[in-house]
Amino acid sequence: MCNDRIRNALVLSVSQMCPVDCDFCCVNPPCEDRLSVEECLKWIRLAKENDTFQIVGFTGGEPFYFYDDIVDIMKKSSSLGMEYTIVTSAYWVNSYEETFAKMKLLKDLGLDRINISCDPGHQRKIPISNVKMLADISNEVGLRVYIVGTFNDASMNIETYLKKNNIEFDEKINLSTKIIAPFGKAKNANATMEAYGLTVDYSELHCCRYGFDISVWPNGDIYPCCSTANIDSPLIMGNLRKDDFKEVITKTLGNVFFRVIKRESFQGLIDICEKYNCSITHLLPEKHEISGPCGLCLKLMKNPETKGLIKKAISLYEIDLIYEILDTYVDENSWA
Ligand code: SF4
Ligand code: SF4
Repeated sequence: MCNDRIRNALVLSVSQMCPVDCDFCCVNPPCEDRLSVEECLKWIRLAKENDTFQIVGFTGGEPFYFYDDIVDIMKKSSSLGMEYTIVTSAYWVNSYEETFAKMKLLKDLGLDRINISCDPGHQRKIPISNVKMLADISNEVGLRVYIVGTFNDASMNIETYLKKNNIEFDEKINLSTKIIAPFGKAKNANATMEAYGLTVDYSELHCCRYGFDISVWPNGDIYPCCSTANIDSPLIMGNLRKDDFKEVITKTLGNVFFRVIKRESFQGLIDICEKYNCSITHLLPEKHEISGPCGLCLKLMKNPETKGLIKKAISLYEIDLIYEILDTYVDENSWA
């Protein structure tokens, strides 16, 4: 069984261009650069050789804006046996025949999963019938299909939205609900957890995926995740055009800060800082300012004081972890 949560993905944002203009788009202003087919191929090959990546994702902007590039990349790398995923707003859907041909080709080239956006923001510009047609065809050609709705109201969900629009899907099609985060075009939105009626509990706040989505932006910048907060994120781990793949991946996947916020929680991080006399408790943002794990992550990493304390605590914690592992090894193997 496939478990997307724990696997690592290389997520390529070939471009951030998009003909739709959603009022909560997280890539605003969009990066005007573009990844070339050769750059994408080089990093897909390196990801395969590195043996820690199982998935290649295409995101944007709108990946179908450069459909020919995506096909070219997939054709030239299909022998590597990676699984591919793609997101789209379905703006480009036209006739059944054309859509079927496009999706069948992508499936034959190794596409495994498609995420299709569907919510009031996207449907201001795109007929919901496009989403229905694309989801049904993608399901028909054998893809895993996710319909993803992003709402400005935490009591709203994709199921209710589809019902209101008299849209029904085959039970194999998955439905997923998100809330708008205050980044990109929505940066001034009142999108805090408090505004959504959600309680801030640091032990429940953690980085959304166990595995890593290493995302590469069109200008080559590399982020450790595919967060909507990346437009405003200081977490740039390197650049595809300047840095060595192995070095960037090793320092990202081996980063204990990410491991703590992924595998434990932000409370786990706060406790580690406390344990090593680097308390950040008095520097935490007010709870009513927190928009979610990514908002908190950025606030901590953008503030030089909290960043410095976290860095110090994590390095001490890392040393203790190494000693702990060595001790266990010595005990278990009588190797002293
Ligand atoms: S949210 Fe997606 S579909 Fe909407 S403008 Fe941004 S990239 Fe385009
Ligand atoms: S919590 Fe931080 S590392 Fe995790 S997805 Fe959000 S911004 Fe990225």
